[in-house]
Amino acid sequence: MSYDRIFNFSAGPSMLPVSVLEKARDEILNYQGSGMSVMEMSHRSKVYDNIIKEAEALLREVMSIPDNYKVLFVQGGASLQFAAVPMNLMKTGKADYIVTGQFSGKAYKEAQKYGEINLAATTKDENFARIPRQEELKLNPDADYVHICFNNTIFGTKWDYIPDTGDVPLVADMSSCILSEPIDVSKFGVIYAGAQKNVAPAGLTIVIVREDLLREDLPDYVPTICNYSVMAANDSMYNTPPCYPIYICKLVLEWIKELGGLEKIKEINSGKAALLYNCLENSKLFTNPNAKECRSMMNVTFRAEDDEINAKFVKEATAAGMSNLKGHRSVGGMRASIYNAMPVEGVEKLVEFIEKFESENV
Ligand SMILES: *Cc1c(COP(=O)(O)O)cnc(C)c1O
Repeated sequence: MSYDRIFNFSAGPSMLPVSVLEKARDEILNYQGSGMSVMEMSHRSKVYDNIIKEAEALLREVMSIPDNYKVLFVQGGASLQFAAVPMNLMKTGKADYIVTGQFSGKAYKEAQKYGEINLAATTKDENFARIPRQEELKLNPDADYVHICFNNTIFGTKWDYIPDTGDVPLVADMSSCILSEPIDVSKFGVIYAGAQKNVAPAGLTIVIVREDLLREDLPDYVPTICNYSVMAANDSMYNTPPCYPIYICKLVLEWIKELGGLEKIKEINSGKAALLYNCLENSKLFTNPNAKECRSMMNVTFRAEDDEINAKFVKEATAAGMSNLKGHRSVGGMRASIYNAMPVEGVEKLVEFIEKFESENV
């Protein structure tokens, strides 16, 4: 069935796999004989307990999360984690931040409310067109942690290496790249991600935290709901968790597993990204501004020099069934977000459209 769906290149909330939406539809009125929707059931019920436990078990399996890490399902978006990270991890009151785009900039700014923050590196002067190299990082060996944003959703870059931070825990915002490829979780102290890009509807945030970073002695001002050790001790059930997004997260993880796991997902994603980047490399009209080794596999930015051409492109693409291609308001141009759920056909259609548009407008 086609459902007349269009190819939606939104940066988030973004596409979900059709088979996941179909499953959710089929179960929406009566979840597995419970007589009710997942939206309607008590989070303390046996049937819901199975859902959240299964979601966590699948996430652990799919991401190969080591046993010495806790998985937390929380609310508040990645933006609340910009505050929760310093509140949970600051001991000496010092932390290093690497600013490679807008969200890492916001995290850096938020952290300043809680301590003395060192800007360990930034590529702002280069319009965030690349990721700083290891030797450029001015890391403080006494910092409580180092914060990075692994995939820069707005500028379309991604860390092409995991920075070496010695004994200092590395914290990564992976909102726009979680589950897009295998990642060595053991290299990180904390990984967090808003779910609405690659995992589930908005409302769920995933936090993966190494157990030795959980602390009982947090300052009194820390809201209980932001306290990782309390959330971990209560299996993310200190209060009502985002029940329905967790259920969709479970379905998405089942879909990933069925496809062949993150190795397979990476193969598909890198194929999609290569199609689009090759097209842009050959384009006489459009360019991607970013250093090749730092290109995002999830968010592909491109633009023509002439803003009227950019506007025309977005308008005509929308009319052709490809929506949300307008770049972020702070950057302009175009951005195609090609998360896991974007089918190869969507990228192929976009590439064909770019070529056709170019032949008509150069
Ligand atoms: C979307 C996004 C955010 C913001 O997430 P919210 O859930 O809206 O707070 C933060 N970081 C990155 C990398 C993002 O892509």
